Amino acid sequence: MEAQQQDMICRQLMEQCKMGWPRKEELKKDIKPYWVHQGELYIANGLLMKGQRRVVIPEKMQTEILSLLHERHMGVSKCRARAQQSVWWLGLSSQIAKMVAQCEICLKHQPQHTEPMIPSPLPRLPWQKLAADLFFQKGTTYLLVIDYYSRYIEIEKILVTTAKGVIDALKVRHGVPETLISDNGPQFTSAEFLAFAADYDFIHITSSPYFSQSNGGAERAQKTIKTLLLKNQDPHRALLAYRVTLLLQGPSPAEMLMSRKLRSPLPQAKSQLKPGWPNRRAFREKK
Ligand SMILES: [Zn+2]
Repeated sequence: MEAQQQDMICRQLMEQCKMGWPRKEELKKDIKPYWVHQGELYIANGLLMKGQRRVVIPEKMQTEILSLLHERHMGVSKCRARAQQSVWWLGLSSQIAKMVAQCEICLKHQPQHTEPMIPSPLPRLPWQKLAADLFFQKGTTYLLVIDYYSRYIEIEKILVTTAKGVIDALKVRHGVPETLISDNGPQFTSAEFLAFAADYDFIHITSSPYFSQSNGGAERAQKTIKTLLLKNQDPHRALLAYRVTLLLQGPSPAEMLMSRKLRSPLPQAKSQLKPGWPNRRAFREKK
């Protein structure tokens, strides 16, 4: 990254990586705080990294990256998780906390910081068990689909809110699930939908509105997405941020679904974008 080359601190750190680190006292004042991190700092393909994943961000870019980390207005731990797989600089962690605490949009929508959480049992495969739900916001009806395995969320504007409109939107996803859970909305209980399930060979389960536990995953996801649409001008950008952010259990929804990280506007080392299976067993066990 050119910006690293133009930054005094980064240049100095790269120099130390090449030459080896002296005793702490021998370092210049502004490099001293990095002394404790020396074991993790190294150069990969000309890029100064901290650990395997984190690109060291020069001062000039830090403000911009900081706001990118918070673009979906996620809470502190989610922003930190996002940083942990892409970027680093000295003091980043506390800067994230400060930024979130002062964010006007977050303060305005404070009580709604919920993340989608799905009741067990976890399916064995990605896209095996889905929940679908319709919701209405700012004059638009959306179809929301969440994969129980990966927590990957998709939304789609529904222009015609008939069964056919919903069916067409469902057809263009990541293949056919084994099971689809929805509420008892008229689109889902229609004869057309029944025929669709039979034709595409999946089991359709509807949950009663009075006992909606089995659709709980979709409802939580819906809350998250609604907040996200309220807080963000560009819902797809915000969804992207959700998809690339690590879940509590480790990998991001994108990795769990497609075994690869998605490129996002945050700087990432190219090597991070190579496909690879996340450790699924660890993921299941941590749940
Ligand atoms: Zn915010």
